[in-house]
Amino acid sequence: MEIEKVKVLIIGSGPAGYTAAIYAGRANLAPVVYAGYQLGGQLTTTTDVENFPGYPQGIGGPELMEDLRKQAERFGADIRFGVATKADLSEAPYKITIDDEKVIEAESIIIATGATAKYLGLDDEKKYAGMGVSACATCDGFFYRKKVVAVVGGGDTACEEASYLAGLAKKVYLIVRKPYLRASQIMQDRVLNNEKIEVLFEHNTVGLFGEDGVEGAHLVKRMGEPDEEHYDIAIDGFFLAIGHKPNSDIFKPWVETDEIGYIITDGASPRTRVPGVFAAGDVADPHYRQAIVAAGSGAKAAMEAEKYLANK
Ligand code: NDP
Repeated sequence: MEIEKVKVLIIGSGPAGYTAAIYAGRANLAPVVYAGYQLGGQLTTTTDVENFPGYPQGIGGPELMEDLRKQAERFGADIRFGVATKADLSEAPYKITIDDEKVIEAESIIIATGATAKYLGLDDEKKYAGMGVSACATCDGFFYRKKVVAVVGGGDTACEEASYLAGLAKKVYLIVRKPYLRASQIMQDRVLNNEKIEVLFEHNTVGLFGEDGVEGAHLVKRMGEPDEEHYDIAIDGFFLAIGHKPNSDIFKPWVETDEIGYIITDGASPRTRVPGVFAAGDVADPHYRQAIVAAGSGAKAAMEAEKYLANK
């Protein structure tokens, strides 16, 4: 297998990966970036980004990521297509296999592989992607001012997103498959005491409908029970909040992760337990999951990588 040696390898091309590349590039580290499955990461599936500082009129997600890519390339980042398929972090230089066909030996690695929102698996979720289906209320909620939306899930994320959307929308349905919420008590109270939120316990979504975008959802109450009931609700937006899966699988034997798979770093720093290996962005962030936060952690990771290499 072909082997290539690099100083800094950045895995992932979201805001964390690209910002790390800008900082590492400016530090003359000639970073190599492998973009992963989705060049530009999750934001490329968003239409308008209105909460990234510096864009008073907002900016399209793909456009923002394109700007970040160009900025990283301006400082010498080598951005390539390819997916990290295997990792060996047992000793430096660390070995990352790309597309099962090439090995990169890196003195330092920044893991910025992000997290993937979970979907129900309905064909309609794909059909209406970007047309009323979203997995991020903070990103897209603003477009549903005074409209009716549904949020799926019963955990803290779902409750948080439903509460956030209730501040914007006319009405929010919270669709929960169990007869209870899994969220923390304080989040439950917030949802149950909000007049704008109607919680539909023991409900499953089996489809969406609409002409040019989401206009409603097909629901089933008490699915599989003798009193099972089918009906539709009219909605303008459908938000998934059933959890995220951090893209950390290949690194798990080496770095510490929590029970969901988020990489655990050393407090507020991006250091993992492997010297010279850093984690930035959503793969190490179960809480904030915002582009600007990911970008900030990417900057920190590159600064740490620079320090690590200088001390070596
Ligand atoms: P969770 O895994 O806690 O909850 C997922 C929810 O989605 C559950 O209610 C689950 O239902 C439901 N769900 C999963 N799959 C399906 C499906 N196929 N159909 C319908 N419903 C489904 O994920 P969260 O993202 O909410 O939270 C992740 C972690 O982050 C948690 O530890 C949480 O506490 C934390 N967090 C903390 C916050 C805070 O402190 N402010 C904010 C957000 C998250 P069921 O219960 O039936 O399994």
